[in-house]
Amino acid sequence: MSTGEPDNAAHRCGHVAIIGRPNVGKSTLVNRLVGQKISITSRKAQTTRHRLLGIKTLAGAQIIYVDTPGLHAGAGRALNRYMNRAATSALVGVDVIMFVVEAGKWTDDDSHVLDRLSQADAPIIVAVNKVDKIADKQVLLPFIDELAKRAEFLEVVPVSALQGINTERLEPALIAALPQRPPLYDEEQFTDRSERFLAAEMIREKLTDRLGQELPYRLSVEIEAFQVEADITKLGAIIWVERNSQKGIVIGQQGRVLKAVGSEARKEMEALFGRKVFLELWVKVKEGWSNDEQALQRLGYLD
Ligand code: GDP
Ligand code: MG
Repeated sequence: MSTGEPDNAAHRCGHVAIIGRPNVGKSTLVNRLVGQKISITSRKAQTTRHRLLGIKTLAGAQIIYVDTPGLHAGAGRALNRYMNRAATSALVGVDVIMFVVEAGKWTDDDSHVLDRLSQADAPIIVAVNKVDKIADKQVLLPFIDELAKRAEFLEVVPVSALQGINTERLEPALIAALPQRPPLYDEEQFTDRSERFLAAEMIREKLTDRLGQELPYRLSVEIEAFQVEADITKLGAIIWVERNSQKGIVIGQQGRVLKAVGSEARKEMEALFGRKVFLELWVKVKEGWSNDEQALQRLGYLD
């Protein structure tokens, strides 16, 4: 064919919303597909609070993954309402939906999510994640069969985001469903978020790893100073908690928790930013920040 059209005519590009209930592995999958750790993950539900783009540029296509907080029912506190808004608004204007479920574990929350997805008019590809946890592979086939009957899906692909099993099958399926369009982002850009944002998230991830079940939902990280110097980036961050007792836990005995969090977060920042990082952390109390709309705005919970 020689119509004289530019190469871009065959280039595919678009947004893929990653949707699913909390903890199915959405962020782990985005990191795997983008090939960079940009979205924080954890064993605890509701770790992802913001919408975040993960951009993968290939020879003939650019896939823009939209990672979202898991959709959940409890919309009590302002932070929860924000998270649900971020997840729902990610459906607007996307080209493809990637519905992430956990192999062998269909729950009411999954049904609830699927109901919402069916209202959006984008084709759906299902990633059946965590297949590595299924010892008996005979369990997987009936699960996938059942799933395939629940709605019209373009494809149902069993994967393990954590171990990278079969994830390479998702890319071509997604690309085929994207519209022909030139790339929207520079090829070296892998997220829409700033280093400043990513730094705060990494600190939050390390805190989430180290603290008990409840506390992670009660804290937030604010980058107060961010200075890029010749051969080092200097960061100062405040960890906001809601009570004095929480402050003690975050600092730990002789500052042990805070020290470990700082050193792990710094190492990840250095890997992602490709330069040396100097990181200082403070813990401060602000009562009720998670239910205070103004505090949420100042901490970056705003679209
Ligand atoms: P999200 O809430 O859907 O974004 O889930 P995360 O990506 O934060 O993952 C939740 C938990 O599941 C974390 O502990 C992950 O390490 C784990 N996880 C994610 N993908 C897999 C997988 O393929 N296999 C296993 N065994 N665990 C996974
Ligand atoms: Mg997540």
